[in-house]
Amino acid sequence: MKLFENIHTETIDEVVEELNTSLKSGLSSTEAQTRTREYGLNVLEERERKSPWKMLFEQFTETMVVILIIAAVISGFLGKEIETISILTIVVLFAILGFIQEFRAEKAMAALKKLAVPLVKVIRDGKTQEIASKHLVPGDLIIIEAGNIVPADVRIVETSNLKIQEAALTGEADPIDKRAQAVSKPDSPLGDRVNMAYMGTNVTLGRSKAVVVRTGMSTELGKIAGLIQDVQKEKTPLQSRLDQLGKWLAIGGGVAAVMVAIVGIMMGETFVDMFLVGISVAVAVIPEGLPAVLTITLALGSQRMLKRNALIRKLPAVETLGSVTVICSDKTGTLTENKMTVTTIESAGVSIHNFPLVPQKYPDNVLLNLIIGALCNDAEIKSVQEEDLSILGEPTEAALVEAAVKAGLIKHNLESQWPRLGEVPFDSNRMRMSTFHHLRDKGSSLFREINSEHVMFMKGAVDSLLSLSSHIKTETGVEPINDEWVTRIKNAHDEMASKGVRILGFAYRTVDAFDQNANLYDLEDEVIFVGMAGLIDPPRSAAKSAIKKCKTAGIRPVMITGDYPLTALAIAKELGIDIGPGYLTSESLGKLSDEELQKKVAKVSVFARVAPEDKLRIVNCLQSLGEVVAMTGDGINDSPALKKANIGVAMGITGTDVSKEASDMVLLDDNFATIVTSVEEGRAIFDNLLRFIKFSLGGNLGKVLVMLFAPIAGVIIALNPMQLLWLNLLTDGLMGLGLGVEPAEKENMDRPPRSTKKPILDKPAITHVAWTGLLMGLIAMGVIYYYYDRSRPEDTYWQSMLFATIGFIQIGHAFGLRASSHFVLSAVSNLAFTVVTLLTLILQLSVIYVPRLNDFFSLMPLKIEDLAVAMVLGVVYSVSVRLEKILMKR
Ligand code: ADP
Ligand code: MG
Repeated sequence: MKLFENIHTETIDEVVEELNTSLKSGLSSTEAQTRTREYGLNVLEERERKSPWKMLFEQFTETMVVILIIAAVISGFLGKEIETISILTIVVLFAILGFIQEFRAEKAMAALKKLAVPLVKVIRDGKTQEIASKHLVPGDLIIIEAGNIVPADVRIVETSNLKIQEAALTGEADPIDKRAQAVSKPDSPLGDRVNMAYMGTNVTLGRSKAVVVRTGMSTELGKIAGLIQDVQKEKTPLQSRLDQLGKWLAIGGGVAAVMVAIVGIMMGETFVDMFLVGISVAVAVIPEGLPAVLTITLALGSQRMLKRNALIRKLPAVETLGSVTVICSDKTGTLTENKMTVTTIESAGVSIHNFPLVPQKYPDNVLLNLIIGALCNDAEIKSVQEEDLSILGEPTEAALVEAAVKAGLIKHNLESQWPRLGEVPFDSNRMRMSTFHHLRDKGSSLFREINSEHVMFMKGAVDSLLSLSSHIKTETGVEPINDEWVTRIKNAHDEMASKGVRILGFAYRTVDAFDQNANLYDLEDEVIFVGMAGLIDPPRSAAKSAIKKCKTAGIRPVMITGDYPLTALAIAKELGIDIGPGYLTSESLGKLSDEELQKKVAKVSVFARVAPEDKLRIVNCLQSLGEVVAMTGDGINDSPALKKANIGVAMGITGTDVSKEASDMVLLDDNFATIVTSVEEGRAIFDNLLRFIKFSLGGNLGKVLVMLFAPIAGVIIALNPMQLLWLNLLTDGLMGLGLGVEPAEKENMDRPPRSTKKPILDKPAITHVAWTGLLMGLIAMGVIYYYYDRSRPEDTYWQSMLFATIGFIQIGHAFGLRASSHFVLSAVSNLAFTVVTLLTLILQLSVIYVPRLNDFFSLMPLKIEDLAVAMVLGVVYSVSVRLEKILMKR
């Protein structure tokens, strides 16, 4: 395996020879396969992946389980073999359950990771194709362009204006100019090897062809392994807060255990018995299922979100989503369909509405608009047949190419007449782009006043173009632009814009002699304004209903767009966004102090003509108002805002790799409605966790109360260790699993977002735990009182009854806490719950009724009428929980 250490000192020909590739056709796919065998996949090795064995082993090191094992060993020494065996059985069951939960969660996360892998443009067998970056091998010829993350260590062989930000490797924040020529010093530092680009760095400008030199762990990034750029695994805020809660409960459990043990010993029980009882009480209090339920709920939740087109990149996002109070969204493509059509063309003296309803011979100026629109444009026609026009490219640009076709101007024919020599790419700060062309054929009358061989075409936002225009093209020729013209253009522009039309302007200028190495940006001045085109981009129908949902859910939708204010306002109105006091633009933002902006931001919901930098300020202001902000972005410059937002949302289709990397979540369909569905899922997940916590703590409190107060009814040990542990296993373990995956509540989006500052156990939750615990305690005491026969203390029928009743109460509790929906429907809506309930019932009945098995648990078969009583008590309990829910809603 060669490492090609000094590739940066070689000439391009040497590079091609050494890597045995071709600058025309790249590698052949067979050669690529051979090299994959030699060099392996282009992936960074993961921080050791947990093996299933390790996962299983770890289950036995959980504190809870360790306590149980110790208890089992001690009871073994004390001659209590049955207890030893049953505690060990329960330990094994606990471990299996924990293992299944963790295994499923791990698998769900692995599936998500796979999806986060970026695609790369590679040339193989002479064809450009997109492959997953992990399949790159040394020698592959690839294309990297602005917005990409460099997929391997590569040598640049052809470039236009390439700039790369290498902070990930060198810490240098300013992008570096890259070129293809050899660097003389072999041992120059990484930052000086300007013909190399390194894995994990960001292409901020331009485009380049490059040859892959090193892949995977051989790359510079691989050398500093650990810096892995995919789905992150970190403790979520909720997880850490639950850890905290767990600690308190452990202390509570310890205290309760000691108290129960002391009471027992004082009443004459042996130390050994009470030691075991104490341990089981402790185990019963601590919700050991909690961390596992949380992990699996989050992991399964993110999988559910994926099915609805939201890819979660960072697990904490799942829970933060539920608390979002403001969603800041792009307009184009997110709130609108991004299916653009040119409907209007305006130039001095001619305006064509309903283009191209009446095909006609268009005047020269209209054609000039269309030609500039098609040539100053990176979209390409893939096939042009009758009725079947397929265009590849960004929608705005594709629409312009299409409009030209409708007027009989085919882009590649135009290009052969006026080939492109260079360009200044579009960026959302300048809001325009320019291309430079050779006027090979001046034949047509269009360019008759141009004396040079070269011309620059420009298209972009009309205000941006007007500020550079010195002349205007009229029906008769070119004349200096004056205020009268500017007013006329602006009026026509605003009239279109107020209907929600997106507008692009066109301009051109003579270029005396084109020089590739000159600063092309300087040429963007003194242009001749030609006209403009109006494009319709209908709002997404799903966005409209999503915005409605936001409102009932107490979430404020905010539009942030680079588009023109009137266009933005018109679309916002159509979508139902509150216009409030109007809009703010980048210019007006610039004049406001942070305090002033904060005040404005609290009300303004439309931001137009803003640059990516403004987004960061808007996020900051919103956050200092206490809002939890979700913010969308697609460009490289959006990254800081995406990182700063509580939920950074990148676009899956149109987004750059860099923005995806900075995001917490990727919208696979670029659709605003998907953010809202994710919020809904996020809320459902939180609801489920709370449900589980209430269920688990209420039940645990109930059981502790029984253990503590049973002596009042005359019995010292209400439930023996095995019975307690068993109940705990079924409820915390099995039923908890079922509750953790309840579907979203219908009213989920009819209430305000949950504050992130609120404790998990808020007042209503604590109240719930308290009264359900008490009720269980009371019912249990009643059962003991009624069934315990003082004259025959050795008879344990009462205990079986108690055991069965508590079991049914817990099942009833879970049922009562479920999301409200039709009873029959709910059996299907959460199949896991139904299965788990049935399983619990079967297991419960087996330990009561199956001979020998019930000996093991010191249980006796119940008379059928007593079983019915236990069941009815469960139903009563369930109904009370339901009632609470109905009361709370009032
Ligand atoms: P949005 O925030 O709605 O996505 P953009 O940032 O994409 O808006 O566009 C902002 C402005 O830049 C547009 O109103 C348009 O005038 C101009 N513009 C957009 N795309 C192009 C392009 N490909 N070429 C030239 N100008 C463009
Ligand atoms: Mg855009």
